[in-house]
Order: sequence, then structure tokens, then C-alpha cells
Amino acid sequence: MRLLELVDLTVSFPTVDGVVRAVDHVHLSIDDVERMGLIGETGCGKTVLGMSIIRLLHPSARVGGRILYRGRDLLEISARDMRRLRGKEIALIPQNPTTSLNPVLRVGDQIAEVIQLHHGMSKTEAWRLAVNMLGEMRIPDPERRARQYPHELSGGMRERVLITMALACNPTFIIADEPTKGLDSKTKSQILRLMRTVTAGRSMLMITHDLGVARSICDRIAVMYAGELLEWGPSEEIMDDPLHPYTRGLINSLPSHGLEAIPGTSPSLINLPSGCRFHPRCRLATKTCKNIHPDMIDLGNGRAVRCILCT
Ligand code: SF4
Repeated sequence: MRLLELVDLTVSFPTVDGVVRAVDHVHLSIDDVERMGLIGETGCGKTVLGMSIIRLLHPSARVGGRILYRGRDLLEISARDMRRLRGKEIALIPQNPTTSLNPVLRVGDQIAEVIQLHHGMSKTEAWRLAVNMLGEMRIPDPERRARQYPHELSGGMRERVLITMALACNPTFIIADEPTKGLDSKTKSQILRLMRTVTAGRSMLMITHDLGVARSICDRIAVMYAGELLEWGPSEEIMDDPLHPYTRGLINSLPSHGLEAIPGTSPSLINLPSGCRFHPRCRLATKTCKNIHPDMIDLGNGRAVRCILCT
């Protein structure tokens, strides 16, 4: 049985300007002890997809399809059962440590609070465990750091605190939303090394705009564009032999591949282009691409792609 299976998942938000189709008929699965990278430009719907799994979307969100976790539909279970799963089985490393941490609580207290909530330990025991965990996250002088407030820590340390909080309950599945965003390259490498270690033996969905980050840590990569998936497959194969023109564009925009930007910008999720959603930016687009919306084709070798040139 798959650990997680998204079946025809859709998420939309009604707004005064129209309906935002943030996640559009997505099918995706993650196995036990598998790390999946979800890649795409800002605003493509990847964070919404991640938040829909853990049911932390804005109340106005309309969600359809199924989110099967060990065969159980997370959209069907009670709010109480979902709270139990959250943290204990499924943990989130949210996107922005500065806004995700409580600025008026010491970081040690914030971690201890999570431990107490899920393990029923005393405050003193939870504090001791929190300090130990900060040490395991290679935060120097963890006793002193635990007594500090978020603004007293560097960006890298705040990220480590968020990772500690996510791990505090020993989850099976971690959703990590842009864990290296805004970090300098040295800190980014340190956080990636740490993520690799702490997610060993667990499953993970890593949401990132950085293909290089996904490649360095994930077993498989799924590429998202304008609310839908365009390609997925094993990380090495996606990087060495990308099939979709958008994936090729993302790879060419990496510093190691010449920093060639993809022309144009992502479409609005309210006014999506006709036919292939990538056609206004695709160098290979034909007349057909403007009229026919390509299906996702499962190539049967662990890969799938949505492009008429690959059928
Ligand atoms: Fe480009 Fe056409 Fe393929 Fe879309 S379907 S990616 S526009 S070639």
C-alpha cells in the first residue's frame, strides 16, 4: 500500500476576480520511506497542494478528489482525528521561520510545548528533551539557545528550530515547504545535509522552487505548473533526461546549466491559457498546443509527462 496517494485532487478558491484553480486534477503517490520533490515556480499551487494534505487551508478553499494516507481518506476523517495525525504521523516544516515561530516565546518553550502536547511529558522533561534535540540538530550551546527568542537566532538556526519542532513527535511523513528559501549557500548546504539525515527512514514531500535542492535530497521529482503536474519520475532521470519543455527550461535556468531563464511569466490561476497551459512560453509550441489540453501520459517506466510531443 502507498503511504500517500492523491487521487484527482483539486483545490480552488472563490475570489472577487474569479475562481483560483490552485490545484487541478492532480494524481500523485508517495511510497514508504520515499522522498518526493515538488518543483515549480512561485504561485504554481505547490504550497496549496502541501497544505491540502495536512488540511491547513483557508476555510474558503474548495477541495475535491481524495487524499489517501495509508488507504484512509484524510478529507473524510474528523477534525479531531486529523489533529491527532498532524504532528504525530504527519508533520509540517512551514515555509517562513520568521513568521512561523512565535516571536514572544523562547524557542525551547515552543519545542517543549509540542513535545508535551504529543507525549504527555512534564514541562521539565519536555524542556530537557527539547534541549537535547537542539543539540542533535547541531545547534551549538543548545541550553543557551533554547532560552533565546526567535529574533536572537540566525536564519539557519531558526530553520533548525522548525525542523526540531517537526521531528519532536517522530513523524512518519514530513511536508517541508521551501526549507532552504532565503538562506545563503553555506547555510543551505548545512540544512540540506541535516534534512537528509533526519528524513532517513521517513517519507517526505519537499516543496521547492529549486530543482538543485530537490535533486540533492529527493528520490523522485514531480514538476508542477499552473496548478497541474507536467512531469514526474526518478530525480536522476528527470535531471539527466527531462521530457517536458518546462522541465528542460527549469534545468537550463540553474547556475550549473547556464542560467538561461524561461521566457515569459507563469499564467494567472484565474485566467489559465487554452490548450497546453505552458504554450505561451514554450519554444516548441504548435497551433495544436493552443487548442488541445494534453493529458498526463504514464510512460510505464516510472515516468509520466504531459506534452503532445511525448505521445
Ligand atoms: Fe510545448 Fe506543446 Fe508540449 Fe505544451 S504540448 S509543452 S506547448 S510542445
